[in-house]
Amino acid sequence: MARRTCASNRCRPGILHPRDAIVKVTSTAICGSDLHMYDGYIPTMEKGDILGHEFMGEIVELGGDVTNLKRGDRVIVPFTISCGSCFFCQTQLWSLCDNSNPNAGMAEKAYGYSAAGLFGYSHLFGGYAGGQAEYVRVPFADVGPLKVPEQLSDEQVLFLTDILPTGYQAAEFCEIKAGDTVAVWGCGPVGQFAIKSAYRAGGRAA
Ligand SMILES: [Zn+2]
Ligand SMILES: [Zn+2]
Repeated sequence: MARRTCASNRCRPGILHPRDAIVKVTSTAICGSDLHMYDGYIPTMEKGDILGHEFMGEIVELGGDVTNLKRGDRVIVPFTISCGSCFFCQTQLWSLCDNSNPNAGMAEKAYGYSAAGLFGYSHLFGGYAGGQAEYVRVPFADVGPLKVPEQLSDEQVLFLTDILPTGYQAAEFCEIKAGDTVAVWGCGPVGQFAIKSAYRAGGRAA
């Protein structure tokens, strides 16, 4: 579980490892997946745990081993926490990282295998404090966070952290070709992104 240090009467996370970064959150989102923790579908939440896996912000502190980012950089932070060097990360299967979930044994008992560590997603997936907060500790910060060009607003890039790739992947799995007719069940945010991605894959406007 991520520990926090307190400074000037305000609890905020601190650097625990040279590959950490601390991000000051400028935008964060709630997600339908958060409901899985609230309704107990995904167990092992504890009092005081912080949800949130769709967030972005400004780098305010960096561990000594993170050389590709600097303080003041604006970044989006992906849902999955990935080490960058295990078999799965090396084959770009980031969500299966073997090194970022310290509680992988618990997840294996529940699901038969473990995913990567995830921000704000119960102790089954590492017990990492999530992004519905003022500050977040981001492990393996040299791998996950992506720098955002200045001209793009938070609203233009925030959804890249989880929900847009989720809808995009659904369309990708369908191997859509130009002219195909596509049905999408469920028109929440992920469905909307799946529809947009399907149009994009088909090369035709609505
Ligand atoms: Zn989400
Ligand atoms: Zn990995």
